[in-house]
Order: sequence, then structure tokens, then C-alpha cells
Amino acid sequence: MSEALPAIHCLRCGMRMESRQAYGGLRPVCPACGHVHFEDPKVAAAALVERDGRLLLVRRANNPARGQWTLPAGFVDADEDPQAAAARECLEETGLEVRVTRLLDVIAGREHPRGASIVIVYLAEAAGGELKAGDDADEVAFFPADGLPALAFRATRQAVQRWADGRRSML
Ligand SMILES: [Zn+2]
Repeated sequence: MSEALPAIHCLRCGMRMESRQAYGGLRPVCPACGHVHFEDPKVAAAALVERDGRLLLVRRANNPARGQWTLPAGFVDADEDPQAAAARECLEETGLEVRVTRLLDVIAGREHPRGASIVIVYLAEAAGGELKAGDDADEVAFFPADGLPALAFRATRQAVQRWADGRRSML
């Protein structure tokens, strides 16, 4: 038996699951009842807020990528609308109340062990509040597209690139 996956027990019968090939990948499979366990994705939501042509970013206070900049973002709660999660995280990290205007991108692929496996990025506009770093951000600022700081994570770079491309296409 492979130890490639952490030991879990069958939700149906309580037997210790084994790592086996099932449905095109290595998954926990119950040797007694045949139940196959699928891991739920961890989903995060991010807000991309532009004001006067500048992009809102937060500086990470914690590792990984401490000191680098990202979009305000965080995990979506189980019963939460991802748009509401993006707005909530933005308020927590930047002090700004925002209104989501549209979907910008959905980015798949976990980048670190505690990271999300899916990041949903929304365009949003500031609707109130005052700029103040909070939660796991220690600084918050607006940056011009041609003067961005060091960005943390591929998902951030991809979303910011998409935003920059969209701005260019509108010029
Ligand atoms: Zn079982």
C-alpha cells in the first residue's frame, strides 16, 4: 500500500482508506466498501480594484511571500457567495468598501501548501471606507500599471497582467 496520501478513514464504513488509482488519479479508496474519496478544492476570492488608472494592492505581512504584494484576497467560506467573500476580504485587508462589477478570471493550481487551489478574481470599484491595512496585510496602496511593486504568486501576476492587457486594449 502506498503512503502517498494522508491516512483517512472511510466516511461510509470506517475502514482505513488505501491509495489507489481511481478515476484517473491516485485517490483514497476504501478496501472494504469501494468508496472513493474526492478532496474538495480550497477556493479563494480576490478583488481587483482600479481607481484613477491605479491598481489597489496589499503587502503581505506573513509568509509565504512576506513583503511582496498581492490583490486583496482570502478563502471563501463554505456557504458564502464568492463575490461577497472578495468584498469582505477587501474590506478586512484595505479598509475599502467595494462593489463587485464583473468576473475577471478564474485561476487554478495550488501554489503553496496553505494556498487555494482555485482563485476567483473579480473587478470591483471602491464604494466607501478609508484606506487602512489590516488582517494579514501590513501596507496598502494604489499603483500605476507601469510602476507595480514585486508581486507574490503566479495567480496575482496573471490577474494583474489580464487587467493591464484590458487597459491597453481600451486605449
Ligand atoms: Zn468503506
